[in-house]
Amino acid sequence: MTKIQKTEELKRILIVGSGGRENSIAWALSKNQSIEKIYVCPGNGGTANFEKCICLKPKSENEQAIISDCKRLEINLVIIGPEGPLAEGLADKMREAGLTVFGPGKDGAQLEASKEWSKAFMIENKIPTAKYWSTDSEEKALEILKRFNQPLVIKADGLAAGKGVTVCETIEQSKEAIKDIFSGKFGSAGDKVILEERIEGPEVSIFALCDGENLIVLPPAQDHKRLLDGDNGPNTGGMGAYAPALLINQQDLKDLTELVLVPTVKGLKKKKIKYIGVIYAGLMLTSSGPKVIEFNCRFGDPECQALMPLMGEEFASVIFACAREEIKKAPKLTFNSECSACIVAASKGYPESPQKGDKININVESNPSLQVFHAGTIIDEFHNIVTSGGRVLSIAAQGETFDKAFDLAYSNLKRISFEGMHFRKDIGYQVRNN
Ligand code: AMP
Repeated sequence: MTKIQKTEELKRILIVGSGGRENSIAWALSKNQSIEKIYVCPGNGGTANFEKCICLKPKSENEQAIISDCKRLEINLVIIGPEGPLAEGLADKMREAGLTVFGPGKDGAQLEASKEWSKAFMIENKIPTAKYWSTDSEEKALEILKRFNQPLVIKADGLAAGKGVTVCETIEQSKEAIKDIFSGKFGSAGDKVILEERIEGPEVSIFALCDGENLIVLPPAQDHKRLLDGDNGPNTGGMGAYAPALLINQQDLKDLTELVLVPTVKGLKKKKIKYIGVIYAGLMLTSSGPKVIEFNCRFGDPECQALMPLMGEEFASVIFACAREEIKKAPKLTFNSECSACIVAASKGYPESPQKGDKININVESNPSLQVFHAGTIIDEFHNIVTSGGRVLSIAAQGETFDKAFDLAYSNLKRISFEGMHFRKDIGYQVRNN
């Protein structure tokens, strides 16, 4: 197989994915003057809004077709956005083909792709987490529930697009959730079930870029998973986010790095896993200390859309150095010290049955403190931007204070419309005064 020459200069990037996360990564990278082209595969209706950015539709969904395109286009760096292709081993195949990739291989992606693997990993490496049991039998799961005699959190083991977790209020509800999983509600992701002790406390997400050895910790963020104001309604992929999360200060972040992120890298190395990519730890700050609820093997969506505007121009060089396993040689990553807000606008029927094909009107003038990131959008045959998914787009804004950032974001969201558009009005309530 022909190896691509790993040139020193970063000129052409390919980002795999079609969501708001990938749109915001493309936007952040496009700020780097030396980059010539950013391809997003397959991208969305907003990809080409940013300088140097273009959608790439490979001839087929096939991994080899994407790899061939990377070679043809002389791509220096591939960034894999979503967890699905990471869990399926796309990063491994690309590395085998000689490409420089940011994103863990199939082995490292288990941190997210198997809750059972991830829980066992946490216990092995003394990373604090809630008590749990795992089983592949419905009978055993019901037995555990009976023995524990308390409502538990019931989780499908595999990837279920953020929908495989039920935080149960009653024992009856726990039973139902177990039955749902074993009746195939989440397909093979539910071949095993995790029963978890229910813990309580505010949630915060921490992120680090990892080159297999070293870490660069990013500002923490907080997202809003529930559909409705007041954290009510069903769980979604995320309805908004803000960064930095004020719930933890610089010292807390240092402590959490030592408590969670450093042991994670050490544990992965012990398993001979070279983890190159984002380590995302979702934490709950309980009365008995912080506990990890989940790991993700990529940036969160929509946390990424709140985070990207805080990244300094060196971001592209840092990601490149990380993918080349030499993060220490990268320029120091600087962060904008402002407050960043992100609000998701969803389509009619989201999350149950999102309506597609509605024309979107956007009358927002983006500026350095205001961005519109597309997610579930496409450009139709008449060159209209139309909805193509549940979370249609997000608006992000930055300001000296969270009040200013959210005011800017919400006031400009009024300039966007599509049939059945809905969004939460209280994103960032934890840090807003108005
Ligand atoms: P996960 O997909 O594992 O992050 O879970 C989704 C959401 O369920 C989390 O953001 C928490 O709000 C909640 N959750 C997960 N595990 C627990 C737990 N052990 N106790 C209480 N809430 C939980």
